[in-house]
Amino acid sequence: MQYFINVILPIPLEKLFTYRVSAEELAFLQKGMRVAVPFGKSKIYTALVHEVNVEAPKVYEAKEIHQIIDDYPLVNIIQLKHWQWIASYYMCTIGEVFRSAVPGAFLLESETLILKNDELEISEELLKDDEFLVFEALQHQSVLKVQEVAAIIDRKNALPVLNRLLEKNIILLKEEIYQQYKPKLVRNVKLSSVYQSEEKLEELLNSLTRAPKQRQVILSLFQLQATVKKPIKISDLEQASGGSKAVIKALIKKDILEEYHIQRDRVVYDADIENTSLKVLNEYQEKALLSIKSSFAVKQPVLLKGVTSSGKTEVYVRLIDECIKAGKQALYLLPEIALTTQLIGRLQTYFGEKVSVYHSKYNVQERVEVWNNVVQQKSKAQIVIGARSALFLPFSNLGILIVDEEHESSFKQFDPAPRYHARDAAIVLANLHKANILLGSATPSIESYNNVHSGKYGYAEITRRFGNVLMPDIEIVDIKEQSRKRRMKGHFSDRLIEEIEATLAFGEQVILFQNRRGYAPIIECTTCGHAPQCPNCDVSLTYHQYKKQLRCHYCSHHAALLKSCLACGNASLDTKGFGTEQVEKELHTLFPEAEVGRMDLDTTRGKHGYERIITAFEQQELDILVGTQMLTKGLDFRNVNLVGIMNADSLLNFPDYRAHERSFQLLAQVSGRAGRTKKRGKVIIQSYNPYHQILKQVATNNYDEMFKEQLEERRQFKYPPINRIIKITFKHKDYNKLNEASEWFTIGLRNAFGSAVLGPEFPPVSRIRNQYLKHVLVKISLKHSLSQVKANIKRIEQSFNAVAYYRSVRVIYNVDHI
Ligand code: ADP
Ligand code: ZN
Repeated sequence: MQYFINVILPIPLEKLFTYRVSAEELAFLQKGMRVAVPFGKSKIYTALVHEVNVEAPKVYEAKEIHQIIDDYPLVNIIQLKHWQWIASYYMCTIGEVFRSAVPGAFLLESETLILKNDELEISEELLKDDEFLVFEALQHQSVLKVQEVAAIIDRKNALPVLNRLLEKNIILLKEEIYQQYKPKLVRNVKLSSVYQSEEKLEELLNSLTRAPKQRQVILSLFQLQATVKKPIKISDLEQASGGSKAVIKALIKKDILEEYHIQRDRVVYDADIENTSLKVLNEYQEKALLSIKSSFAVKQPVLLKGVTSSGKTEVYVRLIDECIKAGKQALYLLPEIALTTQLIGRLQTYFGEKVSVYHSKYNVQERVEVWNNVVQQKSKAQIVIGARSALFLPFSNLGILIVDEEHESSFKQFDPAPRYHARDAAIVLANLHKANILLGSATPSIESYNNVHSGKYGYAEITRRFGNVLMPDIEIVDIKEQSRKRRMKGHFSDRLIEEIEATLAFGEQVILFQNRRGYAPIIECTTCGHAPQCPNCDVSLTYHQYKKQLRCHYCSHHAALLKSCLACGNASLDTKGFGTEQVEKELHTLFPEAEVGRMDLDTTRGKHGYERIITAFEQQELDILVGTQMLTKGLDFRNVNLVGIMNADSLLNFPDYRAHERSFQLLAQVSGRAGRTKKRGKVIIQSYNPYHQILKQVATNNYDEMFKEQLEERRQFKYPPINRIIKITFKHKDYNKLNEASEWFTIGLRNAFGSAVLGPEFPPVSRIRNQYLKHVLVKISLKHSLSQVKANIKRIEQSFNAVAYYRSVRVIYNVDHI
């Protein structure tokens, strides 16, 4: 009798794949366990069991699985349902969801490169024979492929041994090598159980009289045990006894000491953080909490709209508290850049060790730890705070989901597939768990607010800042006028300079916002007008003065700054536009006494990049912080009284139907950093276009007017939330082929959807990394079935792919593109 299972392979296949298993394997396997399977001619993949005991495939001969990897399911049924929804809604395959949902270390495959972890001392005695062979090979060869490992251990499947080595932290996967890495295994020693009794111990010490060093080690171990009362680390024993590694090793060899490892959590909770009880809510928070709870009973999700610094976080904390008291898990989602130590620390003071953090700056091992803690429903992962990928953790018992800063566009994954919106996927997940879901923002997305208006979402609000601090006073400065009157110093108006002076004189801090990094986005020859372009992309290079480099912000291309123009040879290069670097430089001249810091992508690389700058600013080592939109999110600085926006126009003029909504959100959020404690804060917005309605709405804090106007525009031009949109991107390195192919596809779309199809059009940056891009937008009325439309598009894609000439053109779907 033959048995079969269906598995998900972590690659873009439309269908599940069927493999053969034995009767024993069948009895053992459950949905959500991993198996190693052969695929194609020579590849081995880690696949996930989707169905057990299915029929034999009709069109191909099922291969046998190589190996079962897990003892229990790594992924649960709710997750599989959720993945299915994501795949079908966002038009990708479940394999792509699988690949992106689990930490890379769960997906060993034959292409993976393996390296030795040099940071961990390894005692060879602890290795099984096959583990040792691999370990030894890695002493001689820095990198091994999975197939090579298979050859070394003389077995066709190397994944089990690699999984074991990975668990023991002895090897690393190639893609992880660049990340900071701390060993998670602490080596400890204890006296072998043989010597537990007094007599035996006496005997032992006597027998060691001729080996005084070894004797001393044993005595020190006792001393340590008496005082420390914790597992004794080898390194501590070494120090306490003054003995060497060799002496301890000799004792271990003689079976007098036993070495053992303790798994230490890498995401260490700082036990020094003092536990505090929850804050008493003020009447506005209390009222919001009550209406959230009563809304939960009738409508999900609920949107909480609370002005900046109204104390939304404290309201979330209450809900989380109730959830975990009921024994359930809580998930708190934030955009990546809002996930700061500040906030994590704040939650830890309330919930201590129960808080786990999950985001992309953590390495694979750390993510694996959180994953395993969630699978096992450990209390230390009862509350997970994370960026969008935390949505994929194996929760089995979610009680509440909170999506903070729900308006943030970074909740939408752009590349690669699945191109999902974490807020929307969270709503679906909450529904699968029958959990509560709360969306929070000071400046909700037009979509969510519209859903409140149409009665689909519940609603609660807080209209006052905590402590009754006034909303900041926002002043708009006309820099066209100021330039005309020659009142600008560099990019600073005299009003902004005055306010900075006054703020610094009070010993208060300043935040300056400029949404461009680098020194100048364009460098241009004043003689012939030539601007250096990226050779791989259709953009001009940005000048970074600090490194004296021209850099492309779309690919990794960079070049030294030219002395003279490449086109005409004249040494008359000049810069146009300005970025954070230039603002920083001008500040040094204008305020030589002030300490200035800069926060943008260039200064915050690395795991602790943001933290360093945020802490320095928080501790008032810096007077002025210049930054891009990174500094708009969720930061709570006590001493900032002035926020300056260097130039609002680049935001407002962005070619996108959401530009106005986004500008409002961004400006309101940055402004919200000012005056959060007692004194009313001040905001200066510089613009060439001071009468722009969005600036007026920001200045008067008039969200509702902004909402009405934007919704009306969306209605006129049939954009979301009035319609849905699917963006289809075509990508190829051959310009002509791309044009032809995208035309062909679009004709098919027009036949199906008529005038709802826009394009194909080149985007503003029409070539990135030597690939040309063309976009088509399909607008879909809410009356139409979205799944019907998608099925139609897929059908067109099938005939498209049947044309051999077009097959190499990549077609990328972005549903609900934002
Ligand atoms: P939001 O998330 O709405 O911007 P926060 O939750 O960060 O606002 O609150 C703003 C500030 O007010 C924080 O420093 C917070 O500690 C303080 N705060 C909020 N609610 C309370 C409360 N009930 N009691 C004491 N302090 C509070
Ligand atoms: Zn480039």
